[in-house]
Amino acid sequence: MKYSIDNFISDSKEVFDRISEKANSAVNMSKAYVEKAQLRVKLREKYYDLGKLCYNMHKNDSDETGNMKNLIKEIKMLEAELEYAEEASGKPKVCSFCGAKNSADNVFCSKCGEKL
Ligand SMILES: [Zn+2]
Repeated sequence: MKYSIDNFISDSKEVFDRISEKANSAVNMSKAYVEKAQLRVKLREKYYDLGKLCYNMHKNDSDETGNMKNLIKEIKMLEAELEYAEEASGKPKVCSFCGAKNSADNVFCSKCGEKL
């Protein structure tokens, strides 16, 4: 039995398919990772804005309640989006050292730094 060019082509195709499958899932994983990171940055900005509003309110004795309520609404939406993204990325990893729940794609515990 000889190894024909057809065998070679079909084997190569199989290898290629397998590699691109892996690459695709890696791309999807890093996409989800970037998406979550962006959400966390947005959230941090909103918390910052909220703190600033609160500070100005007390400093200038002005009423920022309306603005604060709007910000809190935005924060709630971002938190829900982040929670959804966390759930979509798989089971959380529980740290064996401190018991903290970590994102499925975390390599180290976000609380204590232990390798997961
Ligand atoms: Zn930990």
